[in-house]
Amino acid sequence: MGMEGVGRNLMSVKTKNPVARELLFGDLWEFDPAPESAPAEIKGRYGLFIGGKFVAPKSKKYFDSISPRNEEKISEIALANGADVDVAYAAAGKAFPAWSKLPGAERGKYLYRLARLLQDRAREFAVAETIDGGKPIKEARDFDVPMAAAHFFYHAGWADKLEYAAPGRNLAPLGVVGQVIPWNFPLLMMAWKLAPALALGNTVVLKPAETTSVTALKFAELIRDAGLPPGVVNIVTGFGETGGAIVKHPTAAKIAFTGSTGVGKWIQRELAGTGKRLTLELGGKGANIVFEDAAIDQAVEGIINGIFFNQGHVCCAGSRLLVQESIEGEVMRKLKLRMNTLKTGDPLDKNTDIGAINSKRQWERITELVDEGVKDGAEIFQPECKLPKKGFYYAPTLLGGVTQSHRVVKEEIFGPVLSVLTFRTPDEAVEKANNTAYGLSAGVWTDKGSKYLKIATQLKSGVVWGNSFNKFDPTSPFGGFKQSGFGREGGRQGLLEYGELV
Ligand code: NAP
Ligand code: MG
Repeated sequence: MGMEGVGRNLMSVKTKNPVARELLFGDLWEFDPAPESAPAEIKGRYGLFIGGKFVAPKSKKYFDSISPRNEEKISEIALANGADVDVAYAAAGKAFPAWSKLPGAERGKYLYRLARLLQDRAREFAVAETIDGGKPIKEARDFDVPMAAAHFFYHAGWADKLEYAAPGRNLAPLGVVGQVIPWNFPLLMMAWKLAPALALGNTVVLKPAETTSVTALKFAELIRDAGLPPGVVNIVTGFGETGGAIVKHPTAAKIAFTGSTGVGKWIQRELAGTGKRLTLELGGKGANIVFEDAAIDQAVEGIINGIFFNQGHVCCAGSRLLVQESIEGEVMRKLKLRMNTLKTGDPLDKNTDIGAINSKRQWERITELVDEGVKDGAEIFQPECKLPKKGFYYAPTLLGGVTQSHRVVKEEIFGPVLSVLTFRTPDEAVEKANNTAYGLSAGVWTDKGSKYLKIATQLKSGVVWGNSFNKFDPTSPFGGFKQSGFGREGGRQGLLEYGELV
């Protein structure tokens, strides 16, 4: 990021703050490139992981997996058809009786082993996740991989203590579970789904998203190396149609889905009347509410983290900023300064804050929504940044001058784009925050604990962070209200979704 560009862009921002002046008009430090160099160990071609081994698909078809950081082909992935899904369910069905009858402590050992194997190869998995999906290496390394391991550790701990999850009752596994996951946190979403299902004694057929199958298939190697009995976990890759075959399969006792609200609604219609259990983790349009009594600098960090973490490909992103009118000027000024320091570019560079957009399709959707917002009168701010020529990149974006009826305020953009609204009173903040079809997350920034608690109870969101945002823990249940879905993942509540109380 050159000084010239920053100066030009921020000339209109007046400040006496010496640090800000340095950023605006002084010599900016340039970072040298700091590329992560550990090998990702991605195979040229992956089959389906069924019955404990990699097998060629009956479809005989494969599709290319490319890296969004440079559009290069990184692997060929098997395209499972209905017959392949049948074989996977048959393997899971065959494995269920023995797996479900194992003492919990024995199942726990396998989960601990998986967690430790993932830790052993953490660096390699982080690099693979970044190459395959485009997220910054520092996030894959410090968030996705350790958090995925943490979910296996946590649920390993539950496996032999299930009587405490439902005191006075018995918790029986459901059977074979079909799981379909999205591309924003490929490894982590897989951990969220596999760990509780396995802890309780279910067996699984799982499909990763088509743009991010690699780390699930690498994880299949760990499943094999951990000696998990064949068929307990089966990973089938493919497109939406493959996901549809998993959802509709008669063997499935439960479907667990994370993805878009549109597909979630289709699944719900498809399962109506079948008696299958269902949990849906869908989209969001989280409100990040900043009151005038908040610690502004911390709030600005929280706003940045809330929307630019993982390029904004976060279902619970704080994509609607609600800022109290009296502090709007100060918050906007500090936010723009902070945005100027964000480094957007090669996700494999350890200095990168905002990596590549996951796919061309997603890049087009973000572009279309923002362009329409600007056409409808939004004031756009983007720091000047040199984006790589190859790959899918989108500069961090602020949209001001918008109202609740703007599409960019109503719809999930799932990119590094923040829409800004203002409010005058706490009631107005709550009203606006709840004025959405979604209900997954919210953040409240205030100096007053009592105000946080009062507002949190009024917000219709599965998670309400207080003076923080995008904080996660395996012990804490996560899930939505309204069109963000139903069911919880994580914590005791998430565990109960995979069992029958008997
Ligand atoms: P998506 O299109 O719904 O895809 C999610 C998964 O479903 C992918 O594996 C996809 O396969 C598969 N799929 C597509 N059509 C299907 C069908 N008809 N039947 C069964 N499976 C089908 O969503 P996405 O665009 O990948 O993911 C982004 C969305 O996920 C966002 O809306 C985000 O908010 C949501 N999300 C929610 C949470 C949460 O916890 N609430 C977490 C992360 C993401 P293909 O990839 O092959 O199309
Ligand atoms: Mg990819």
